[in-house]
Amino acid sequence: MSIRVRFAPSPTGALHIGGVRTALFNYLLAKKHGGTFILRIEDTDKNRFVEGAEQYIIDTLKWCGIEPTEGIGFGDGNFAPYRQSERKEIYKKYVQQLIDSGHAYYAFDTPEELEAMRERLKGENHQAYDIITRMTMRNSLTLSADATKNLIEKNTPFVVRLKVPSDEIIEVDDLIRGKITFNTKELDDKVLMKADGMPTYHLANVIDDYEMGITHVIRGEEWLPSAGHHVLLYCVLGFEATMPKFAHLPLILKPDGKGKLSKRDGAKFGFPVFPIGWKGDAPENSFDGFKEKGFYPQAVINFLALLGWSSGTEQEIYSLTEFVELFSLEKIHKAGARFDYDKAKWFNQQYIMRTSNEDLAEQLHTACAEKDYKATKKFLTGFAGLMKERVIFFNDFLEKGYYFFEDVKTYDKPNLEKRWKGDNREKFDDLIQFIATLEFHNAQDMEHAVKDWITNNNLRLGEVFPTLRIALAGTMQGPGIFDMAYILGKTKTIARLKKAKQDFDALVYTESKSN
Ligand code: GLU
Repeated sequence: MSIRVRFAPSPTGALHIGGVRTALFNYLLAKKHGGTFILRIEDTDKNRFVEGAEQYIIDTLKWCGIEPTEGIGFGDGNFAPYRQSERKEIYKKYVQQLIDSGHAYYAFDTPEELEAMRERLKGENHQAYDIITRMTMRNSLTLSADATKNLIEKNTPFVVRLKVPSDEIIEVDDLIRGKITFNTKELDDKVLMKADGMPTYHLANVIDDYEMGITHVIRGEEWLPSAGHHVLLYCVLGFEATMPKFAHLPLILKPDGKGKLSKRDGAKFGFPVFPIGWKGDAPENSFDGFKEKGFYPQAVINFLALLGWSSGTEQEIYSLTEFVELFSLEKIHKAGARFDYDKAKWFNQQYIMRTSNEDLAEQLHTACAEKDYKATKKFLTGFAGLMKERVIFFNDFLEKGYYFFEDVKTYDKPNLEKRWKGDNREKFDDLIQFIATLEFHNAQDMEHAVKDWITNNNLRLGEVFPTLRIALAGTMQGPGIFDMAYILGKTKTIARLKKAKQDFDALVYTESKSN
């Protein structure tokens, strides 16, 4: 049997990062077994529909490199349409089947009547339209066949509800959680078709999974409570023999482990919770995603795959191909996975460190053009090699290492104040002259030569080196002094040191202080 899985988001806004993990696990299972990964858009709730959300989902899957083989935006298979709003006729047919077989009924209750029912039930231990309350309501179970027909003919608004059987045990076999049982006494008579003729999520989801030949339903744990109704629906629709296997993924928790990570947590904790940027109807509803923050999609995928899944080894860095090879639903954990943004950044750093200097130079070439920085590939390759262990995001290269491309903008004043005086200052010109005599062949030779010069001039390394470093980079951080000098080349290095001398004097030197 060939595996067919689906990612079935509702286009209600930007896709939460947890949704991307759901898509990923579906993708991995399909790829591992040479199966099919489908994108189905569950847009039956008109009130929650958000323009642009469908395209966002497609763009996200493309950016992450986990593209479906079938469905909206990715080419039709044999089961189109893949948008639920275009499948109304299909659902209608099954609703009729359920009514005819006595597993569903028409309910004509007005909003006021439903409200009165809730009031009446207050204080009882259930509040639902269910096996107990249904016989007190206005529906085709309590009305005569003629009265029902009459109401329908007069266009009285109605919904169709599932007639949940009394006192039966429904078993859901979950590949992650094992056997979960529901007593039908706990289940309400869910609406299957709304007054606008649209199916509800429950009905459309089950019918589509059946019609599209879905073998595994992999989705977030928040859908577990619905699984009882779904299994019941499979049974009463006569789909039991081909019912998919279920796998409910553990929740992604807030960084402190308290509760589910929500869409609002991004703003609260200051990290992205969306894969790519989302432009809402107002600035406060627009967000940067992992992409805009400077994450590589491979790093995001690596981070997400390990939220709730592990190979059982210590390995942390995997390519998508490795994930495909190693993946199995059985290795998914039951417990919620804490969202750790520092860990996400660590993954990105690891990806940068593992990217070759040549490939980074290629990417930097484009980024430099945008900033009008002129640099050869050779220079950028060397620059990438020096900086790649010092950055977390790609943008950090040119932000933190701007001084490789333009003059130093600010100098570390507190450090200069301590050091720009006495012999260290007075002999700086001599040092520049000495450096100008060096061959810029390699950083190590230069370092040895300068160390010797410092010792011979009775200066201290701890004074001179920081000064040189600040002269070249403005800061105490960054690559080694001579690595920088080597890459900058003799002309630029000497010019920069000379300029620094003047700048330092202007910035921190006063006669009185030095005396
Ligand atoms: N439309 C549901 C969602 O938005 C799909 C849940 C499922 O996969 O069954 O997550």
